[in-house]
Amino acid sequence: MVEVTGSTPVSPTRSKTTIGACSDFFLEKTATMITITFPDGATREFPEGTTGREIAEGLSKGLAREALAVSVNGQTWDLSRPILSDASVVFLKWGDDEGKRTFWHSSAHLMAEAIEALFPGTKFGIGPPVENGFYYDIDMGDHSLSGDDLLQIEKKMEALAGRDVPYRREVVTWEKAVQHFRAKGDTYKLELLQDLRDKEITFYHQGEFTDLCFGPHIPGTGRIKAIKLLNVAGAYWRGNEKNKMLQRVYGVTFPSRKELDDHLFRLEEAKRRDHRKLGAELDLFFLTPRVGAGLPLWLPKGAILRETLESFLKEEQKKRGYLPVVTPHIGNLSLYKTSGHYPYYKDSQFDPIVVEDEEYLLKPMNCPHHHQIYLSRPRSYRDLPLRLAEFGTVYRYEQSGELNGLTRVRSFTVDDSHIYVMQEQLKDELCRVIELIQHVFGTLGFKTFKTRLSFRDPKNKEKYGGADDMWERSEADIREAADSMQLRYSIDVGEAAFYGPKIDFLVQDALLRNWQLGTVQVDYVMPERFNLEYTGSDGQKHRPVIIHRAPFGSLERFIGVLIEHFAGEFPVWLAPVQAVVLPLTDRHLDYARKVSDDLSASGIRVEVDDRNEKVGYKIREWETKKVPYMLVAGDKEMTAGSISVRRHGKGDLGVQSLETFTATTLEEIRTKS
Ligand SMILES: [Zn+2]
Ligand SMILES: [Zn+2]
Repeated sequence: MVEVTGSTPVSPTRSKTTIGACSDFFLEKTATMITITFPDGATREFPEGTTGREIAEGLSKGLAREALAVSVNGQTWDLSRPILSDASVVFLKWGDDEGKRTFWHSSAHLMAEAIEALFPGTKFGIGPPVENGFYYDIDMGDHSLSGDDLLQIEKKMEALAGRDVPYRREVVTWEKAVQHFRAKGDTYKLELLQDLRDKEITFYHQGEFTDLCFGPHIPGTGRIKAIKLLNVAGAYWRGNEKNKMLQRVYGVTFPSRKELDDHLFRLEEAKRRDHRKLGAELDLFFLTPRVGAGLPLWLPKGAILRETLESFLKEEQKKRGYLPVVTPHIGNLSLYKTSGHYPYYKDSQFDPIVVEDEEYLLKPMNCPHHHQIYLSRPRSYRDLPLRLAEFGTVYRYEQSGELNGLTRVRSFTVDDSHIYVMQEQLKDELCRVIELIQHVFGTLGFKTFKTRLSFRDPKNKEKYGGADDMWERSEADIREAADSMQLRYSIDVGEAAFYGPKIDFLVQDALLRNWQLGTVQVDYVMPERFNLEYTGSDGQKHRPVIIHRAPFGSLERFIGVLIEHFAGEFPVWLAPVQAVVLPLTDRHLDYARKVSDDLSASGIRVEVDDRNEKVGYKIREWETKKVPYMLVAGDKEMTAGSISVRRHGKGDLGVQSLETFTATTLEEIRTKS
C-alpha cells in the first residue's frame, strides 16, 4: 500500500464541477464537497466526482506516475472513476498485490485485442490475473496456436501498448451488451451475460477492443512496457469437462524490461531448483505408485536431512520447556466426533477402519490425542503452561490431481505442539512461540518473512465458537504479542478458524516466492468440547486456552521448500553428506579410509569414493551431488597427514591438516553457518 502523508499540499483541480453539459444549455453548480481519508488517517475535502487520478496528481507527480488503481473503501477502482461520496482511499502501485493483479488483468485485455486483430473471429471466454501473470481462454475453431503465433501476438501487443490508449469504462444496459456480443458472435460472452441480468453491466474499451468486464484496469496501455507470452494449455469452458476445450494462453507483463528479465531468470531458476527433480538427483526421496500416490518414501540421505531438522527443533523446544509425547497413527472415530472434525471434514480424510465393531480414523491431526494426555490426570494452575510436543504423522485425503511432490501429499509429519495455558498467560506464551519461530526461520536462512493475523469477522459472529469477550481479549493479546515481537503484520478480518484467531508466517525464499509455513492458532472451542479443566489458585475449576503451533508446518512441505530455497546446496550442518574423501589412486585408498574413519568419529558425515575412476571425473560428479567438501588424498597428503580441500561451488581451498579441517568443519556445523 502507498503511504500518503497528510502534510502534502493538495491543490484541488477545480472548485466548481460542471455537470450535464449539452448543446443548448450549460448547467453550472457549486460543487458538493466530499471527505477523502488517507491511510495515515489524514482527511481532505474534494469536490464530489473527483477521480483517484486527480487526487494522486494533487499529492505528487511521482504518485500519479506510479499509481495503477485506487482502493476506495476497500474496493479496487479505476483511477478515472469519479468518487461520489466520502471515502477512504489507498493508491495501489506495482509493489502491491492488488496493483499487480490489476496490471495483469489489464494485460489480458491487451492480449485479447492483439489476438482479435491477428485472428478475426476468435471467441473469448474469460481473462483473469493469476499468481504470476494472466491468461485468456479463447476459442479459435480448428486453429491451434503455435510458438510462432505467440511471438506474433507478443509483437502486436507491444505495438498496441505503445499507443498508450486509456482503458475506458462504460456502463451499458444488459440489452445493449447482448446486442454487441451477438453481432460479434461471441457465444461465451453471451453465456456469461445470462448470469448478469440483474447486475450493473460494464464494458471496457481500449483502442479497437471492447470487453465485458467489471474492471478495474490500469489507466492506460502505455504502462505495459515488457511482455512475454509463456504457453498455451487446454482448459474446458467453465472448468466443466462436458464443455468445449478452449485454448488458455498464459502471459506475463511488467512495467519495465528489467523486471521481465528478472522474472524470466527466476522461472529458469525455479525449474533448476524444482524439489522433485533435485529430490531424485540428490537421492533424498521418491514416490512410487506401488506404495501409493502422495506417500513419499525417504531415502537415507533425505532421512538424515529430516532427522537433522527434527533434532534441531527438538533441541530448541527442550530449551523452551516443551515436553515430548508420542501417540499412535490411528484413533477412535469418537475422538474426531468430539473435536467436530468428523463428519465436517469427512471429505478430506480417509474412510474409517473397522476393528471389533469400533471405527478408527487414520489420524488427520494430532490434537485430540494430545488432549487425552492432558486429561490423563487432574491439572492445576502449577502445571501450566503445559507444552506437549510431537513430530506427529497425519493422513489427509487429497485428490490425486492435487498431489504434487512433497508440497501436496497424503501423509505428512507435523512438528506439532499443543500448549495449554491460562488466559492470563496467553500473551506471554504467544511471544515465546513467535520467538521460537523467528529463531527457526532465521537459522535456516529465511531472512524475510511476513506475518498475517487472522481475526474473526465481527459481523458474522455466529460462524465462530467461543464467547465474545474471549475473542476480543485473544485478538488483543495476539496483536500485542506481534507488536512486542516487532513483527511486520497485516490483519485479515474474517480469516480466523472457527475455534479462534491465528497467526500465519509467510516466508520469502531465495526466488522471492512467498510460502505460508509456520502457523500459531489460539483455540477456545476444543477445551470446551473435550471438557479440559485445571484447578486455579482459587481452588475453582477453570478452562485452559490451547495454542496449536507448528513452525515447519508439514515437514514434507517444509523440506520441499528448503530444497528449492537452497537449490539443494544445503549448509554444512544440514547436508546429508558433509564431506567425501577422494583417493588419488588405489595406493591412497587405505589412507582415504583412515581419514574418513577419523572424521566420522568426530561426528562429520563422510563417504569415501573408492571407485577406480580419475579424480577429475569424481570431482565433477560430486559437484553435481552438491556435497560441501571434497577431500583429495594423494602422496603428499598421505605423508603429511593432510588433505587437499575443495569447497562445492568455490573450488580449491588448498592443503589443510586433518586437525584443522576437522576443527573448522565442526565449528561450521555447531554454529549452523
Ligand atoms: Zn477487465
Ligand atoms: Zn492442533
